[in-house]
Parts: sequence; C-alpha cells; structure tokens
Amino acid sequence: MEDSNFSRRFHFVPGGNQDSAIQELIFTAVEFVSDLGEFPRSKTIRDQIQYVSKHFRTNDLVLPIPQARKDFSKAKQAWELGQTGSIRAINEALRFCPRTQSLVCELYLKRAIISYQDGYYENAKEDLVEALLVLDAKNFILEPETVFRIHHKLAQCWSKLKIFSQAVRSLRTALVQLADCNFGQSEKSQFENMIQESIDKLSKKTDSKRKVSPREGLSLSDPKPDNPCLSQAIAIVNSSHKGRFAIADRKINCGEVIVIDEPVVSLMNPDDEKLMDDLCAHCLRQCSNFQHPCPRCSTTAFCSLECRSQSQLVHGFECKVNLNQIRLENTSDSFRVFLTWKAVIQIGLEEFKRLYRKVGRDLNEPENDQERMFQMMTHERERHIEAHIKYIIVALYLHKLLEKAGVCTSDRLDWELVEAIHHLLQVQDVNTHPILGLCDEGGRSSEVGLAKVGNAINVNIGSFINHSCNPNTCRINFGRKSVLVATRTIPTGQEISDIYSMHYSEIGRQERRNWLKSMFFFECSCEACEGHWPTYEELDTNGIEPNVMEDLKQVESGIFHALKRQDFDTAFQLHVKDVHILEKAVREPNRIYISVRNSLQFCLWKKYGHF
Ligand SMILES: [Zn+2]
Ligand SMILES: [Zn+2]
Ligand SMILES: [Zn+2]
Repeated sequence: MEDSNFSRRFHFVPGGNQDSAIQELIFTAVEFVSDLGEFPRSKTIRDQIQYVSKHFRTNDLVLPIPQARKDFSKAKQAWELGQTGSIRAINEALRFCPRTQSLVCELYLKRAIISYQDGYYENAKEDLVEALLVLDAKNFILEPETVFRIHHKLAQCWSKLKIFSQAVRSLRTALVQLADCNFGQSEKSQFENMIQESIDKLSKKTDSKRKVSPREGLSLSDPKPDNPCLSQAIAIVNSSHKGRFAIADRKINCGEVIVIDEPVVSLMNPDDEKLMDDLCAHCLRQCSNFQHPCPRCSTTAFCSLECRSQSQLVHGFECKVNLNQIRLENTSDSFRVFLTWKAVIQIGLEEFKRLYRKVGRDLNEPENDQERMFQMMTHERERHIEAHIKYIIVALYLHKLLEKAGVCTSDRLDWELVEAIHHLLQVQDVNTHPILGLCDEGGRSSEVGLAKVGNAINVNIGSFINHSCNPNTCRINFGRKSVLVATRTIPTGQEISDIYSMHYSEIGRQERRNWLKSMFFFECSCEACEGHWPTYEELDTNGIEPNVMEDLKQVESGIFHALKRQDFDTAFQLHVKDVHILEKAVREPNRIYISVRNSLQFCLWKKYGHF
C-alpha cells in the first residue's frame, strides 16, 4: 500500500503528514492491524477493540514521558534580564523557577511593582498575594526588608482597588515587619508614622463593591430560559430528513449576537511554543504580559490565579504525564486527539461511561451539554475501515496515557472506557471547531490576522446550526467561547447557518463539495451550491445603480476611517448600514457582499474578540 494514499484516508492528517513520533506509532499500528486482514467489521465495537488489543501490546504505543521540570539556572538567567524591568524576562524566570527557591518571591514582587506603576492594581495584588502564599508554604528566609515591601505594596494595591479594610490589614502586618528591618532609626520612625497615618485615614473609609471585569461583558440580550447559550430570536425545529436545526423565530438584525457557546471541552494548541508563552492554558486568552505559571511544570501558564485553580484537576493530570511537553516534541497541530483525553478527565471516568451508555438508548432530549455532546453525529458507518481501526488504536493509546497519569487506578484495560473514548473521538472528528485568536497584525488595519489557538466542541453551534457555503452568520471567539453573529438580516423562518469549510467565493463548487463530503459526510444543498455561484474572481460588481454605488462608497469610506482610529463601535454600525444598502439594492451573488462580510467579520473580532 502506497504511503500517501494510505494516510490520506485519515482526517487528522490531510495530505499524509506523518511528522510526529506519536502519529508515526499510530500509523504503523493501523497498518499492522489492517494487514492482518481479518478485522471483524461486522462484530460489536467491543469485539473489535478486543481483536485489536490482542494483536499488539498497547504498551508499545506509549513513548517515554519527558520529565516535567523547572530549571533554576534558566530562571536565574532570565532574572538577570528581568532586573531591567522586562516583563517577558520576568515571566520566563517565573516559569522556570522552582517554587522551592526564594527567587520566586522576588520575581513576584518585581512584577507587582511594574504592574502597579502601569496601573494594573489587580494584577499587582495577585502577584503579591501569590508571593506571600509561597513564602508561607516554603518557610524561606527572606530579608525582612523584602517581606516588609511585599506587605506595604500589597496595602497600596488594596487601597487603589478601594478595598480599604484589606489595605489596613496589610499595613498592620507591614508595621510588625518593620520592627525587624535593617533601616536607620530615623528612617524607621518616618515609615512608622507614615503607616500609622495611613491606617488612621483608611480605617474611616468603606470598601467599594467589586467591579465585574470588563472581559466578561459580552452576553446575550435575551437568552432562552431553557438554554441560555441561545438567543430567544432562535427556534430549534425538527424535520425528519434534516434532523434538528435553527431558524429565526423573529427578524434578526445584522450584527446581532445569537449564540454564545461555552465549549464542553477545549484545548490549546501547545504545538506552537510561542502560543504556550502567550496564552492562558485554561481560558485561551492572551496573557503575554501577566501570567501565573503552573507550580510544577515549566510549559504551562495561566492568565489568573482563578484560571489556574479552575484548571487544577485537568492540568494536574496533564502535568503528571507532561502532556504539553509531549505535544511540543512529538505531535503537530493536526493531532488534536487530546481533546477527548481532556474530556475524560474533566467529566470523570464513571460519568464519562454513563454518558456513553445513554447514547442511542435514551431518546429523551439531552439534559445538558455533556449529554448533548455524546449524542452528536459520529458517521461511524460511513468511515473507511482504516480510519475506524485508527480510532480504536488512538482510544487504546489514550487509555494508556490515562493510566500513566493516574486517572485510571487499575492497570487492567477498562473495555467500556475504551469504547466510550472511541465514541467521543468520532464525535470530535466531525464536530470540532477551531478556536481562533487575533494575531499581531503588524500595522495592517483592515485584514483579519487570525491564528489558530485551539480546538473546542461547541455543542450548541455544532448540534443546531447547519452548514451553508454562503452562511448568514459568522463565528468569532471570545477567549475559548464561540460567538455566532448575524452578518445579514435574517427574516423570520429562515434557517440560520454557519460555515464548516471554505466560503463559496474561495473555492470552486466541486472541490468544496468533495471536501465537505469526505470530512463531514453530507451533500451540501445551500443556495450557492444549488445555484452554481461562481468564486470571487469570476464574480462581478456590475448591476449596481450609480446612486447606490455612491452611497456604498460613502459608508465604506466612513468604515475605513473608523477602523483607522480604532473606533470599532462606529465601524460596526456603518457595516450594518452597508449591509442594509446592499440588501435593498443588490442581488446576491455579488463581489461586494463578500468584501463587506469579510470586513464586518474583522470589525466584530476587534469589537468582541480581542482578548
Ligand atoms: Zn485564563
Ligand atoms: Zn504543569
Ligand atoms: Zn454549499
């Protein structure tokens, strides 16, 4: 069997890219099992798994696990640079510094001072709290002056945050510390007086209510009571030939946010070292300026203590097998099977198996997103035999990795768990959305520079919103959340559509449809496919009345200037106006629709998606 033909059958690696050790192993295993020639395709999945596991040792699938290590000498090197105030260098030092070293506290203090100067009081406070936590846990001997400075700075942060009771508490502790400090006598009493004055002043003030952080600001204006991810503008309908899908329950305006999907499971792409430096491993937001590293490994960082603690369970196991390091060394971007691995840990073994047992047997509406995820389409029957075998082998591999991480406590194979993993791998293959983030645009102000930062299973968008090569919405990411925004006026009753592959304007009809068929197992019947709409190059801008053209030009010039001065609200409003003019005067398909759509999507990314 020729290699490239062989690998082209698998969806993870289009083009037959076998550039990683784990992929290589799995491909070899698939080839080996396929060559046996007696795979029991017609038997139950349990029989098939047992057949595969009988023919080779699953131990062979697991590569040696690289040690998750801090590196004090690297930390010290970075700290040398960090002395000059480079946040990036301090972050790097923090990442590599073992928490058994007192340098950790110095690093947090240094970063807190910089954050404080720049007005990021919340960040500065978190750093100082963290420094004190480490200090308490490790019993370092820090110079009393340093400890004094930590408490004193912390008091200033609390005061800036208007939590005066905490500020007073920190000042009192600072005062106690001051006694041990090696300051001159007059300096000491000066400090004492200053602190005492502050205590007197701040004691009289009342704490302000904590503000909600603005990054949580994006929300639906009218969420459905039974499913708050969906707007009430959407109705879910059921048809015998199409299954469930979403239509507009009222007229939806261009620019309206209609779905905000919090994924059941999401995964960063740590195959890119730069991303790992810049993104929070939990919420996938940018955190290049301020991050809290994992206390154990040096490959993972979080944007806040909250994200770090929310990720404790999942990353705890990831960290044990040093998953991010494995991925960095041995996998490439397309190898996203660890999404399912993460789902097992997140959901818990017993619940994971219970959810699997319900698939196909419980015909009631799914009760929650996890159930819905397990009941998404798998297209198991339509898969090529080698692809099928591959999922079994990957499931065995992931089971082995769960064992190594200590998630499975017995070292015997749990057949039901392997089955359940196999099932979710197939769900994942056809229902995963990429998570994109705005990348550094290098001054280009009107292009969407997007980087793929991860993958997610969004059950609401995935279960209810069908594909169209000419969709009436676009998807943007807000951290790891996926947000669906109308890019057209959607009249009552019209189906709401998303796009799974390329837009009709980007790739020819046949190629597009073949791809959809091979990846998602369906024949597209959207208006662009049915109507044989041409691609962008072949589209024209003719047929537009001169006065309409004049109106469009005016609006577009307004958009250009608004984008230039980063006024995304105005730019957004003007896009909506642009779409309205088009809808009144110009028939689709037309080039201008494509340009406006792309520009609107960019604007929405800037308005909502910039994290
Ligand atoms: Zn985060
Ligand atoms: Zn870690
Ligand atoms: Zn189509």
